[in-house]
Amino acid sequence: MKNRVAVIGAGVSGLTTAVLLQQNGFQVSIYTNKHPLKEIKNPYFGSLFPSASVIPHSVFHPEINEIFKMSQLFFSKLHDLSFSGLINHEHFELFAFENPESDYARLITGFKNLTDLKWHPKHPDIRLKSGWKFDCFFADWTIYYPQLVQSFLQNNGVFISGTVDLNSYDSVQEDIIINCSGLGSAQIREEEKPLILKGHLLKINNTVELKSPSGNTVSYNFSPGPDLYADSFGTPLDVYCYPRKNDWILGGSRFKGTLDVQGNWVSEDKLSQQFPTQIESVNSEIIKETFGKDLSEFTEKEYQYSYRYVRNKENGLRIESDNAADRLVIHNYGHGGAGVTLSWGCAFNVLQMINEKVSILNKNIDSEEVMNRLGKLLTKPQP
Ligand SMILES: Cc1cc2nc3c(=O)[nH]c(=O)nc-3n(C[C@H](O)[C@H](O)[C@H](O)COP(=O)(O)OP(=O)(O)OC[C@H]3O[C@@H](n4cnc5c(N)ncnc54)[C@H](O)[C@@H]3O)c2cc1C
Repeated sequence: MKNRVAVIGAGVSGLTTAVLLQQNGFQVSIYTNKHPLKEIKNPYFGSLFPSASVIPHSVFHPEINEIFKMSQLFFSKLHDLSFSGLINHEHFELFAFENPESDYARLITGFKNLTDLKWHPKHPDIRLKSGWKFDCFFADWTIYYPQLVQSFLQNNGVFISGTVDLNSYDSVQEDIIINCSGLGSAQIREEEKPLILKGHLLKINNTVELKSPSGNTVSYNFSPGPDLYADSFGTPLDVYCYPRKNDWILGGSRFKGTLDVQGNWVSEDKLSQQFPTQIESVNSEIIKETFGKDLSEFTEKEYQYSYRYVRNKENGLRIESDNAADRLVIHNYGHGGAGVTLSWGCAFNVLQMINEKVSILNKNIDSEEVMNRLGKLLTKPQP
């Protein structure tokens, strides 16, 4: 039976896929040239940085809604199982201009239009023209990601350090290969100008909870309008604040550009070179007006940036099977700004593809059965 799987990559895509395959009887090794618990602030390792909302921002795929819906079902199950670091709370997406409703908005529970809201985050000088709220999953990344690593190890997972040649897979022994190499993808060098979105973050440590008048934790994305915050070409950008257990993640930016063969950032957008001051100034106004908290009182700050590999609008997320070195290879990369969001949906697609191609499991894969196994594999064994 071909049940030995090599996953290339220990980012959120690789680890989630590995854990899901383990629970379905596969023996999984992860080959990686960056270790999730050892690398610090390496901007080429996107999985160290996600703000980690479960919302399909900045990603393209013809079946994005289906993958997102499946992913949400997994997050919901994990939330019921109290998986470490997974939270759900009210989230607001607000605009100072007329913005059409996003495709995903009504795929998330608790949707309400701006006009029906009794309360929402506010900026003192900006009148909102459109927006909505929903009840959204978030992963508190400093807790959730290490827990994924632990789940993988507890289920006999093995990390193998080193770089795999993604054109030959010579160093890989296993029967099936899953390519979750993110920004390291070989494809990135073959595409003429892969679209990368540079993202800036401000992590503020030792914070307090941000709550609505009814006592619920809340977060927001807020587009203050192009006069206040836009890229060099006038495309409006949004700021956001995602409160977590011990910190707030303030964002954001989505500057378009690419990486050259040496990995240097190349962009016609001059603004992309510096940390956008609006992330601090606009968020500061909103936090003061809405929650009565003064940002300047919190002094432990970390300015960060990283890259989202979008590929481009035409081909977007690559989740498809291939053959190399006489073995089945399944590609799972190009998640743009939604690698966390789509992680479980993509992992489930990988499992289905393996089943179709090599018929290992000899039966149709039932998503509910697969989800019911999560409890067993993600819980720490009793001492
Ligand atoms: C500022 C910012 C905010 C974000 N916020 C969110 C958010 O709120 N919600 C959300 O869903 N997403 C968000 N994202 C996107 C998310 O972070 C990425 O989509 C995700 O991390 C991609 O994960 P990955 O596992 O596919 O790839 P990566 O994290 O890039 O991991 C790739 C792995 O492959 C390994 N690797 C690569 N090449 C090789 C090789 N040749 N040999 C061996 N190993 C190799 C690397 O070492 C690494 O372990 C955000 C991203 C940024 C930058």
